[in-house]
Amino acid sequence: MIIVLKPMATEDDAKQILGKIELKGLKPLFMPGVERIVLGALGDERKLTELQLAAHPMVESVKPILTSYKQVSREMQSHDSQVAIGQGKSKTIIGGENFTVIAGPCAIETKQQIELCSEIVSKHGGNILRGGAFKPRTSPYSFQGLEEDGLVLMRQAAETAGIPCVTEIIDASHVGLLSQYVDALQIGARNMQNFRLLKAAGQSQIPIILKRGMSATIEELLLAAEYIYNEGNQNIILCERGIRTFETRTRNTLDLGAVAYIKNQCHLPVIVDPSHGTGIRELVSPMARAAAACGADGIMVEVHNDPLSALSDGKQSLNESEFESLMRGLKPFVDAAGKVLK
Ligand code: PEP
Ligand code: MN
Repeated sequence: MIIVLKPMATEDDAKQILGKIELKGLKPLFMPGVERIVLGALGDERKLTELQLAAHPMVESVKPILTSYKQVSREMQSHDSQVAIGQGKSKTIIGGENFTVIAGPCAIETKQQIELCSEIVSKHGGNILRGGAFKPRTSPYSFQGLEEDGLVLMRQAAETAGIPCVTEIIDASHVGLLSQYVDALQIGARNMQNFRLLKAAGQSQIPIILKRGMSATIEELLLAAEYIYNEGNQNIILCERGIRTFETRTRNTLDLGAVAYIKNQCHLPVIVDPSHGTGIRELVSPMARAAAACGADGIMVEVHNDPLSALSDGKQSLNESEFESLMRGLKPFVDAAGKVLK
């Protein structure tokens, strides 16, 4: 429920109502605005009717939140959320007017490889370095990642380039470990509904890039984000990375309609991964431009110094000149969308 207080209501009035909400076993939310205080009550709404809040002298209106996801919904917060990744000079804001480019190899392979990739990314205007260290591979015989050793290498490379870095988390017990090395954690498609992982991510404050599961509906993605938000971490960025459909020519079907839908219904930033979304190098740049055109807040792309020798996802990875060309081609679309490439 959203409870809008009258303009003359004070913080003490709000506290008193929030106390009653809590006593009924619902989660109280305090959302002070410029003109009015707005309160929220999450949980079994039937219990709330017993409080007769609509009749309270300081309450202007009580309305239900119609969506299944609540706190990430625009009904709860109409303005766009922004998420800061990194600290100090390398701090990057995702959302609002910014169009953010996250780029780097699918997996961290060697010191030289991650250094070269990091140089390519920063030289051509990428904002954040990506690199997998714990890889959730479809086959147990595929390269599984360098684990913590890889994170040491990526942290050094990102620091040299002066940009933040992000890696995928696959185990709820790793939040602390990974947070020592990276500025944001990615929850991959295969773990979008790993609820223990979502809760563990929600109990920290590190920014989370939550990728859409390959068979997940938009509502399931938003409910997965709600899990993280509900634990107290509001630093969430959603990522459309393609879904499984009957189409097999492309690796996945990149659902850009989902981006427009989510931007309309949810206040969190949304980025697009055209690399996993298509699986084909030649399609990455056109779909990156389409992502900018449909209102995404950024992209995540795979870039490798030598895609032909990549240990994972070489077919969808861009080399230096392809990444440079992507960045050049993207700019007019970002401009047209009213956003800024920093
Ligand atoms: C990745 O970004 O490295 C990755 C594995 O992507 P996804 O979870 O979208 O498959
Ligand atoms: Mn990959």
